[in-house]
Amino acid sequence: MEHPINILERYWKFTSFKPNQEAIINAVLNGEDTFALLPTGGGKSLCFQIPALAKKGICIVISPLIALMKDQVQQLNNKGIKAMALTSGISYSQLDTLLDNCIYGNYKFLYLSPERLQQELVQDRIRLMHVNLIAVDEAHCISQWGSDFRPAYKNITLLRQLQPSVNVIALTASAKPEVIEDITKELDFINPKIFKQSFYRPNLAYMVYHEEDKYYRIETILKKYKASSIIYVRNRKLTLDLASFLTSKNIGATYYHGGLSNDEKDAHMGDWVANRKQVMVATNAFGMGIDKPDVKTVIHLNLPESIESYFQEAGRVGRNGDKAFAVILKNNSDAVLVKNQFLKVLPAVDFVKQVYRKLCSYFQISYGEGEYVTNDFDFNTFCKTYNFSSILCYNALLILDRNSVITLSKQFKNKVTVQFIISSGALFNYLETHQEFNIIVKSILRMYGGIFDHVTKIDLKRIAEKASVTESKLIDVLHELESREIITLNLAKTDAQITFIQPREDDKTINRIASIIEQQNKLKQQQVKSMLDYVENDTVCKSMQLLAYFGEKDVKPCGICSVCVANKKEKAPQDLKSLKNSIIELLKTGELSSRQIHTTIEASEKDIKTVLKLLLEHNMITITPTNTYTLIRT
Ligand code: ADP
Ligand code: MG
Repeated sequence: MEHPINILERYWKFTSFKPNQEAIINAVLNGEDTFALLPTGGGKSLCFQIPALAKKGICIVISPLIALMKDQVQQLNNKGIKAMALTSGISYSQLDTLLDNCIYGNYKFLYLSPERLQQELVQDRIRLMHVNLIAVDEAHCISQWGSDFRPAYKNITLLRQLQPSVNVIALTASAKPEVIEDITKELDFINPKIFKQSFYRPNLAYMVYHEEDKYYRIETILKKYKASSIIYVRNRKLTLDLASFLTSKNIGATYYHGGLSNDEKDAHMGDWVANRKQVMVATNAFGMGIDKPDVKTVIHLNLPESIESYFQEAGRVGRNGDKAFAVILKNNSDAVLVKNQFLKVLPAVDFVKQVYRKLCSYFQISYGEGEYVTNDFDFNTFCKTYNFSSILCYNALLILDRNSVITLSKQFKNKVTVQFIISSGALFNYLETHQEFNIIVKSILRMYGGIFDHVTKIDLKRIAEKASVTESKLIDVLHELESREIITLNLAKTDAQITFIQPREDDKTINRIASIIEQQNKLKQQQVKSMLDYVENDTVCKSMQLLAYFGEKDVKPCGICSVCVANKKEKAPQDLKSLKNSIIELLKTGELSSRQIHTTIEASEKDIKTVLKLLLEHNMITITPTNTYTLIRT
């Protein structure tokens, strides 16, 4: 058997493993049921991909999202490894062929959604496969104590019955004790090997400050620590707002949110990664796959929805081991904001019923029908048609997706129409002198007969295949032809695709999942409450609070968080004396506001205010009409 490190080098060109990867791989190779808890970006995929490559046979991977599956299959294919995903929109006969390939075609990976396991054909074929490993990615989806609960994940035990001698690896980044317990229980793990590092980050100082003027405070922090920073804000508008504020203060800043085009995202990311811009101001859409080692500060202008999200976002700081800061700026409006943002948008059962019924009429699905019907879906039009709030409606669709009523694939798909608007004679003359368009144009003409006469919907993927060019090259050529007034081109985008995976039964369909919807809504409320408790609790070490949430109880105060630092300060009044001297020295250079003093002197604002008050009382300083402090010379 080939050694794991050789496989790592050959296919991935990496020279060493990340923490715990090798131990996990060895346990899997030993045939153990294995539980792997690694942070996001910790390299979980390799933990099942390498053992599967080392052994004969095929690895079955359960994954919750089509986009994730497609992405991983693509990456494996790029390395010359045979892998496939059974996504929605596959006909029965295609499915039949694909599964045969898994049995006879030397495929190494078969990616499945848990819903697929319910299909008898799939079960029958899996029984015949030479399976070397079952991998359950994003395994927290099996637990109702996680916010991504997908009841269909409970189907996975079926795989156990189909392949009783094959071991299972479960992978997740979610560390809540009740979630971990659910995973091992639901997957029938007996005596599993559990790999889980402590979440303690000794170089990370968790800070929570009460602050009315958050922008000013951010400016101060970033001028004190002139190093790479991420600032998380509540919405897209704020990313622009704060980035331009910082720019006006001579701090290099860029921004990121889900509404940017791919080119913009790449450009902004590039500026930040290469340290051309110190600060990335972003919504929580930013972070996947970020592994920048030298991030010094992560600042939250607004509260995240849960401790889980916070820990993940804060964890992007200090990867190089240098001391780093995760700062939350809070004030009295935050509790209301966080509730409006995350709790008001939770759809109640009745609303989900309404959305489901409208969805069925929108696609004209009759009662009892609709199973495995796929439709292009324009989300905005749907919301407008029925006057739905877009965020509530979107969340309702996610609920339907997680509960296997529909599959929502957000893969953006171009809906393209073309018509040729010059005569065929003129077109062929043109091609004589423009050979570079020849193959593409002729492929289109062959596939679409009436394209000179009327506007025709074309299939980019098929044309690209026929003409042996990439889709993006094809789009370039179409744009070129349009600009030369040879064709009309309409590159409209549809939002998404929806596949119904249960026959329409109106309210009955939703009643079956009503208790899950309610339980998950309640969970979200608890998560927000835990987040608020964390920022409000000023007595227990911040690091200890976070670790306790993840079930780590046996830890000591970190000594560097805002609580620990404040505790130390209180014990040391002699520090105030040296602070007094520093302030006097500073004021000898001229009059200053308390803000200016705060930017120059390393001390808490509270302490500075205390000392200023004392100096005023002792007539050593005075306040000028412009609210600055000046020394009273004696
Ligand atoms: P996770 O699923 O844990 O979030 P992934 O499996 O997607 O993480 O891996 C995250 C990134 O880390 C990927 O880009 C992957 O190629 C990279 N990676 C994984 N293992 C290693 C390694 N041993 N050395 C360097 N990079 C690695
Ligand atoms: Mg992963």
